[in-house]
Amino acid sequence: MSDCIFCKIVEGTIPSFKVYEDDKVLAYLDINPFSPGHTLVIPKVHAANLLECGDEGLGTLIAAVRKVAAHLKTALPCDGFNILQNNGEAAGQTVRHIHFHIIPRYEGGGCEFAPHQGDMAELAALAERVRMA
Ligand code: 5GP
Ligand code: ZN
Repeated sequence: MSDCIFCKIVEGTIPSFKVYEDDKVLAYLDINPFSPGHTLVIPKVHAANLLECGDEGLGTLIAAVRKVAAHLKTALPCDGFNILQNNGEAAGQTVRHIHFHIIPRYEGGGCEFAPHQGDMAELAALAERVRMA
């Protein structure tokens, strides 16, 4: 979809800190993370939200979410993680291309569920660690 920023990330016209990619799915660090390692997992083919995503695509996507979460847990390492998936403006969805958030949680680390401006060098180093895992 031409005016979708996540489609542009898939095309490579907007840069991203990729942590996982296959022929159907892409995962990259959120530019304004809630916690270190906050990752977005998206299908490469555009669907606006959960209701527009077919069963097969959703199955592929959630399997990738689990795989990437396991890699994050190994690479960071975090103590747990939350999965967040917003549908519609009223629910806080700001980008209309379905995405699952994986939000790593750290014992005693605190997490406000609020975005912080990402440090580019830190994001690049984190993405490298997760890719290596
Ligand atoms: P939503 O609120 O729609 O569930 O989440 C959208 C997420 O996309 C936000 O957490 C926001 O920080 C992230 N985001 C928006 N634009 C970009 C971008 O250009 N690159 C990356 N990596 N993340 C983005
Ligand atoms: Zn899109």
